[in-house]
Amino acid sequence: MIPFNKPFLAGKEIHYIYQAVYSGKISGNGQYTKLCQNYFHRYFGFQRCLLTTSCTSALEMAAILVDIQPGDEVIMPSFTFVSTANAFVLRGARLVFADSGAQHPNMDVSALEELVTPRTKAIVVMHYGGMACDMDAVMELANRKGLWVVEDAAQAVDSYYKGKVLGSIGHLSAFSFHETKNVISGEGGMLAINDPRFEGRAEIIWEKGTNRASFFRGEVDKYNWQDIGSSYLPSEIVAAFLYAQLENLEMIQQQRRRIWDRYWSALAPLATAGLVKLPEVPPHATCNGHLFYLLCHDLEERQQLISYLRTKDIYAAFHYVPLHSSPFYHSRHGTRVLPNADYYGNTLVRLPLFYELTDNEQEKVICSVTEFYSQCA
Ligand SMILES: *Cc1c(COP(=O)(O)O)cnc(C)c1O
Repeated sequence: MIPFNKPFLAGKEIHYIYQAVYSGKISGNGQYTKLCQNYFHRYFGFQRCLLTTSCTSALEMAAILVDIQPGDEVIMPSFTFVSTANAFVLRGARLVFADSGAQHPNMDVSALEELVTPRTKAIVVMHYGGMACDMDAVMELANRKGLWVVEDAAQAVDSYYKGKVLGSIGHLSAFSFHETKNVISGEGGMLAINDPRFEGRAEIIWEKGTNRASFFRGEVDKYNWQDIGSSYLPSEIVAAFLYAQLENLEMIQQQRRRIWDRYWSALAPLATAGLVKLPEVPPHATCNGHLFYLLCHDLEERQQLISYLRTKDIYAAFHYVPLHSSPFYHSRHGTRVLPNADYYGNTLVRLPLFYELTDNEQEKVICSVTEFYSQCA
């Protein structure tokens, strides 16, 4: 059986968890949390990072920080995960969904300006498969209209836009360390704070609305209730797991990119023959090997391909049902059509991609996809 994903253990996870547990401090914001946050600061240059219990909670913190009020409009892609949207809906935002591009599942940034109204407060971008949106265009529009930009960088660790690391460009960014991502801690995430104006408040929201972090640094003699907030810190057990992964980030990334490249070149003949479409890395972007997809002609063909692979014991997966047509939001979305989001919703299929996927297993996936299309031809 070739699963769709298999969480990778870099080696020292249990060792660091053991140390964390026996250090006598296992709640949040301890030694391993600091090691992880410092890692992102040193290695990627993020000014300020806070580990969170998930990317979902980092996005919720971002929605609080940009001060979303009921009725504020937030522009975001329809082709994204529910957490991108939920975090803002929880604060009363009205979502304005943008379509994907014709050439890429990422939001079509050239069509964003017409979605801006006097009520627009923020743009949330999501870098699909870790490939950058055109951030110059997004930031130019946001600066001109006075909007906040939040990057949902859940899939985008160690990936770049014109040489700038993703997650460092918007005012705030959210990362995920869910077990399906490149570096993992089971559940886990991080908020990157790129606009220093948010630093003080972010730490308070993170600590249940209190200035406890400042208290532990000895800056105040007691801590108290300062603002709204929630329990957004992961325990040291989670941070210890993550640190073991971060120490091996380069190795993990190298392997994932190798698998991605191999899929791409082995399936290129199918694309040349017009049987499938393969992902295109935009010229401004890099690929971090987060996921590998191909695009079928239609929904029916995609279901047939997934079923065919299942008969070979290979687990492939479709991806998002676009949020504008979701049971929860379609009546609020109205009638604006988003044909490209629907297209990716219907035709995109992801192939198994994980660190321990062997060459033989990958070969089997490639052969099976190729067989499926030669039968069709
Ligand atoms: C995985 C993912 C999330 C959610 O991450 P969690 O850490 O599970 O909360 C949010 N947005 C996108 C685009 C994702 O891929």
